[in-house]
Amino acid sequence: MTNYKTILQDPVFDLIAQTAQELDQKTFVVGGFVRDVLLKRPSKDIDIVTLGKGIDFARLVAQKLGDNVGVTEYKNFGTALIKYGDYQIEFVGARKESYRRNSRNPIVEEGSLKDDQDRRDFTINSMAFSLNSADFGSLIDPHGGILSIEYKEIKTILDPGKTYSDDPLRMMRAIRFASQLNFTIESDSYQAISKNASRIEIVSKERIIDELNKIILTKTPSRGLNMLHETGILGIIFPEMVALSGVEVINGKAHKDNFLHTLQVLDNISENTDDLWLRWSAILHDIAKPPTKRFDHKTGWTFHGHEDLGAKMVPEIFRKLKLPLDQKMKYVQKMVRLHLRPIALVKETVTDSAIRRLLFEGGDDVDDLMILCQADITTQNKDKQKRYADNFKKVKKKLKEVEEKDHLKSWQPPVTGQMIMEAFNLEPCKEVGLIKNTIREAILEGEITNNHEEAFKLMISEGRKLGLNPVDEALK
Ligand code: ATP
Ligand code: MG
Repeated sequence: MTNYKTILQDPVFDLIAQTAQELDQKTFVVGGFVRDVLLKRPSKDIDIVTLGKGIDFARLVAQKLGDNVGVTEYKNFGTALIKYGDYQIEFVGARKESYRRNSRNPIVEEGSLKDDQDRRDFTINSMAFSLNSADFGSLIDPHGGILSIEYKEIKTILDPGKTYSDDPLRMMRAIRFASQLNFTIESDSYQAISKNASRIEIVSKERIIDELNKIILTKTPSRGLNMLHETGILGIIFPEMVALSGVEVINGKAHKDNFLHTLQVLDNISENTDDLWLRWSAILHDIAKPPTKRFDHKTGWTFHGHEDLGAKMVPEIFRKLKLPLDQKMKYVQKMVRLHLRPIALVKETVTDSAIRRLLFEGGDDVDDLMILCQADITTQNKDKQKRYADNFKKVKKKLKEVEEKDHLKSWQPPVTGQMIMEAFNLEPCKEVGLIKNTIREAILEGEITNNHEEAFKLMISEGRKLGLNPVDEALK
């Protein structure tokens, strides 16, 4: 048996071991923490299994840790959580589980360490370290977890069909671990996932999105998403994305497979950002291509307006997936709506006014928009790649120059509606809006500078054009 004492040198394990000895209760670290130690991935979530009452055990550990360490008790589950420094330590009595057909929630009884290891999903998640004085630090691996790590393989402990049917969330966990760790899913298991895909419907949306987001945050998210697609799970949990897949040919003209394109964009963007919402923007940027697809005999395939329709689809998709409906959703919506803007600049000559408009609409998110746009360039044509890359540099440089000069990212009108009403002694009316628009357009077109004085002068002349008379005060 290999000894892992060095990893368990942290005083916290010593203290848990002491408690185990005092209570004369065999105690172990199990599951994810053990897996991650063996994979040399730092982890702060520690699961402790004790052969006895988990909550009582946790209380005693907390006492030893000091006055201000609290225990959160989940009496229904017989578990307790201690937060200590960066650590989250969960305590539970060893248990045995059996499943009913229509629920993910098992029937639970007390059990041995082996029972507890047997109820876990994958071999890599079933290993334990002993915290007992006789063999402190030894690895207990009855299901061949170490071998699976060596083979880089996700393998269920029991028959895969039964494992996934008992708790279908495990299908997404399998794909998530394969993506995070760059492992493959053992082939029987993969087939069982395809067979049981429709059982994902009994899993709560919250658990599903948790796993999906973890997949999206991996180094190469296309791997996991391809597996979700291939096994049929993606079609159930996120059909709008699957609708992107496929190629249609009319008169010998084909459009690209937008599912593959989207995955490519997602992988590209993942090299430049770990931000979940920017990655979601990549996933959704072309989401309205299927409903806007048209074939024109002169121009071929078009997807006119897919950016606007896409932005409109975002709230409903977020709602169905139980993603947050707050600023994050608004941000993704904005990215989808504006995703074509920078590329239009990159392809054409870059004028200052086009740059100003981009800064004005993109605001603080303009840099993210550039990251999305750059990821969206998936052409294989080397000449085009070079041309776009050169232009991209130009656009970036110009964005910086124009922003330094005109400060349009956090643009506030230099003349407000209130000021216009006071200057012409008006109640709120159509003219106020017209003058405001003219001022904004003049700034964006570079006809006046973005400051109060020039904007005020323009306001007076525009007002006069509309037949309004400024009050004397305004002319001083
Ligand atoms: P991570 O913390 O990275 O999400 P994890 O494997 O630690 O991964 P947790 O949800 O923290 O996942 O679960 C801790 C342990 O509990 C797992 O390692 C596994 O042994 C067991 N486990 C979790 N979920 C399941 C499940 N659905 N079926 C069986 N065992 C599970
Ligand atoms: Mg964990």
